[in-house]
Amino acid sequence: MNEKLDRRNFIGTLSIAGTGLAIGIPKVTFGRITDAKPALLGGPKAHPTNFPAWPIVKKPDENALLEALRSKKWGRLNGKAVANFEDAYKNMSGAKHCLGVSSGTSALYTAMGALDIGPGDEVIIPVYTFVATYNVVVLNYGLPRFVDTDIESFQIDANQIEKAITPQTKVIMPVHIGGSPADLDTILGLGNKHNIPIVEDACQAPMAEWQGKKVGTLGLTGAISFQSSKNLTSGEGGALLTNDEKFAESCYNFHNQGRHTSDPNDLYAPTRGTNLRLTEFQGSLLLAQMERFPQQVNHRWENAAYLTSLLKEIPGIHPAKLYEGVTKSAYHLYMFRYDKREFQDMDRNKFLKALVAEGIPCSGGYGMLNKEKYVTDLAKNKHYLKVYGEKTMNDWLEQNHCPQNDQLCEEAVWFSQTMLLGSRQDMEQIAQAIQKIRKYSGDLKKV
Ligand SMILES: *Cc1c(COP(=O)(O)O)cnc(C)c1O
Repeated sequence: MNEKLDRRNFIGTLSIAGTGLAIGIPKVTFGRITDAKPALLGGPKAHPTNFPAWPIVKKPDENALLEALRSKKWGRLNGKAVANFEDAYKNMSGAKHCLGVSSGTSALYTAMGALDIGPGDEVIIPVYTFVATYNVVVLNYGLPRFVDTDIESFQIDANQIEKAITPQTKVIMPVHIGGSPADLDTILGLGNKHNIPIVEDACQAPMAEWQGKKVGTLGLTGAISFQSSKNLTSGEGGALLTNDEKFAESCYNFHNQGRHTSDPNDLYAPTRGTNLRLTEFQGSLLLAQMERFPQQVNHRWENAAYLTSLLKEIPGIHPAKLYEGVTKSAYHLYMFRYDKREFQDMDRNKFLKALVAEGIPCSGGYGMLNKEKYVTDLAKNKHYLKVYGEKTMNDWLEQNHCPQNDQLCEEAVWFSQTMLLGSRQDMEQIAQAIQKIRKYSGDLKKV
């Protein structure tokens, strides 16, 4: 019998014995579940209950919305809720300025607008991200330059950023994917060295920290999203954080039709603009949700640490690593890599299916953004051909190879932030489900 199988049996034995004393395996009270069959093979679910639902609605949320409704001041130009929210968020994050906007995408778009990004400009972005990061560059006819992924952390591979810098590079836009900070020391260092502003896409990372400081406040600016799935939500909504007063002003103007005052003699600022204002309903709801938010952040952080301590002991399961500078992750997602070689070559889709059957919702995460037709078609876009020419666009296509990301996209598994709001027992049941699936992966492959 090979070593791999020995190890598998050993874990199985340990689990049944329920000791977990030896070789640093955390003590978990494995019940009858580990010697039971996987749910997909007719056994009991490892996680028979539900994870917490999202969003959470309580009386203060209802009151906040009713109050905004009855005030008859529904827009920020009339009411005070958005401004109050901005003050509260500023205090919570330590940023000098906070601007509420209509979405996370709007926040990034506003940053691009305030920096006057336009045709011919290049913006460096990670390839492992939500499409909005790419969209805000393309909406301005800028050229997105993809950087490959650090497979250990799921973050932008900061060591590959410098080679993507050209004289046209106007912004470096790291994303704190999954709510965990990217390697900010390296990225901020590059920004300083090349005099390129850093726009942090912190849409998934409200309250995450790098060396004790909230992400989104370390670069020139950071964008936060309050979309339905996000850790702090008002259905839709977003915010920009910055410590730069002039930049804050430009952002305000951009999001307010290029207008900086209500004085008819001095109405317009020297910025382009549009309407990306947050409503008073959203401002009020966010203020109410913020009461619970810091405690939820800690809850996710503690459960994630516990889950990591359990999962890292399972061969073939590699939780996303946090960089040394990380003092807090927002854990919008709990991400790990699944190495099928430790699961008798059972493919990832079967693993996901088996987990879902155990009562554990999960997904395979992002696809390869650089290979999506939506993205590769940019090379044929008539405006891009006009601005950049055929050669540049063909070169762009050819440079969009991200082999590390290709591998990650095939191995990734995600859990959502709401699962981390569950109990410690929920975390233990996740680990038990995976142990069980691993033990029976040979049989699962056949169904
Ligand atoms: C959610 C998200 C956005 C966009 O935020 P919306 O509020 O949905 O517009 C941008 N970037 C990342 C990484 C996100 O996860």
